[in-house]
This record gives sequence, structure tokens and C-alpha cells, in this order.
Amino acid sequence: MIIRKVSEVPTISYGKGAQKKVVIGPNEGAPTFVMRVFDVPPGGASNDHSHDFEHEVLILQGEATCKGDGPDQKVEAGTAYFIPPNERHQIVNTGKGNLRFVCLVPLRGEDSDQAACFCKTCAPK
Ligand SMILES: [Zn+2]
Repeated sequence: MIIRKVSEVPTISYGKGAQKKVVIGPNEGAPTFVMRVFDVPPGGASNDHSHDFEHEVLILQGEATCKGDGPDQKVEAGTAYFIPPNERHQIVNTGKGNLRFVCLVPLRGEDSDQAACFCKTCAPK
């Protein structure tokens, strides 16, 4: 068994002002899933993207808007949601404080999470 404090896990810059921590993953010997914790400041966001694996998200702190191909949806601490493979998605901190959430991906999803970005710079013309 491996026990870690989130506060002791190194931080990686991600998206628009967001910070990612790979809490449990390949370095801990996880064979199937990767658990990441993200902190996003007010106004910050993950990349607008899609990929062929799912996300399972649990909001721990704050308020946000989930954007995708459908209508925008509000989420807050205590909300869990599932993004199926190939569905476009982005989470934007639309609250006044820090947004913290857990995002689980399959092993192959870690580090390929910025694939097929739809931001103005990366979107196909
Ligand atoms: Zn994603």
C-alpha cells in the first residue's frame, strides 16, 4: 500500500493557469488507472479538447462551468461527472475561489490529455 499526502505531490503546469498533481499513477506502480488532482484559479481552465478515453471527475472545492458540444453546465464541490470517450470538454473556474477536482483517467490517458486541443491556437482550421 502506498499512502501519499496531496500536498506533498509535485505540481505540473497545465491548461490555462491550472496546476496538476499525479497523485497515483505509473510511478506508484498503478497498472490501470491514474488519479490526478487539479487546482484551477478563478478564470483559469483546462484545455478545450477531446480524446478516445474517458474522464471521471469529482469536484472537491469551488464552482465551475463544464463546456462541451452541449449546453454549458454548472458544477460545484460534491459533484461528480463522467466524460465519455471522444466527447469535447473543458472545465472553467467560474467561481470566486480555487477550483480543486480529482480526475481519473486510464493509464494511457495520462500525458496524452492535451491531444486534439480546440483552443484558438490549436484548433484545426
Ligand atoms: Zn480531457
